[in-house]
Amino acid sequence: MSIYCALKVPEGCRALGLQHYRSHSVAKAAPNLAFVPASPPPDAVEVEALQRFVSHSQRLLVMTGAGISTESGIPDYRSEGVGLYARTDRRPIQHAEFVRSASARQRYWARNFVGWPQFSSHQPNAAHLALRNWEKLGKLHWLVTQNVDALHIKAGSQRVMELHGCTHRVLCLGCGEQTPRSELQKHFEALNPTWRAEAHGIAPDGDVFLTEEQVHNFRVPACSKCGGILKPDVTFFGDTVSREKVDFVHKRLAESDSMLVAGSSLQVYSGYRFALAAHEKKLPIVIINIGPTRSDHFASMKLNSRCGELLPLIVPR
Ligand SMILES: [Zn+2]
Repeated sequence: MSIYCALKVPEGCRALGLQHYRSHSVAKAAPNLAFVPASPPPDAVEVEALQRFVSHSQRLLVMTGAGISTESGIPDYRSEGVGLYARTDRRPIQHAEFVRSASARQRYWARNFVGWPQFSSHQPNAAHLALRNWEKLGKLHWLVTQNVDALHIKAGSQRVMELHGCTHRVLCLGCGEQTPRSELQKHFEALNPTWRAEAHGIAPDGDVFLTEEQVHNFRVPACSKCGGILKPDVTFFGDTVSREKVDFVHKRLAESDSMLVAGSSLQVYSGYRFALAAHEKKLPIVIINIGPTRSDHFASMKLNSRCGELLPLIVPR
């Protein structure tokens, strides 16, 4: 079984030092709405329709995107007004640039080093916990997430495929060794004892804003085994999701009888293709997302509410 297999991911993340949060302490925390677009409260008729959809589903595949984590205080890229693209002209690093350029890697890791303590401390919200409960009660066949923040794993979900990887793991591009991101943080601190910079504005992947001057003296370690390039175990923009992961999700989709998309505009093809596949299989598709998505026209139902407000209202039966 491959290291990318979804069944391995939760175990891997536990081994990498992720701790599950106690659900009641998280569920009671007020959502952080700074990065959540304005939306109307859930409509009673819509909630009833969603309840019927979930009740009729025997093998439900759920796909989540950045919109489910905005209530945990992590901004998304595309939301109108509050997403990273709307607030700034910063764009995420491209895969080819990271691999090609040592200075790009230095800049990336310096920013990531500064942002890590805050980014890694984000907690799952009521939506993550609701999906964890659906899984526990046998309602959820599989959870596919486009997010790299580990919040489903922190919530305790186990049947999870992290389509774009996870920022809590580091991958060596030379030998394929996977190591915990928390270990790399200690390595950075040891290599840069006098280096100081302040984080200004955090991005969906933990990136922050620093000047060129600030990153100039930041030292980045190589793989301790082979001297290779260390990269977060995430799919950067411009890279593709492995064939193995895509096939895995298609197989889970083939076993499913319905699909729920939560918090994704489906603008990125790596996630959109599964909604398309579900549509081709004539599965009922429900989308919960504030703002339009690429699949609204073929969804059975579209709800413009916050996932953290809506999902806990549904009784998985
Ligand atoms: Zn290596």
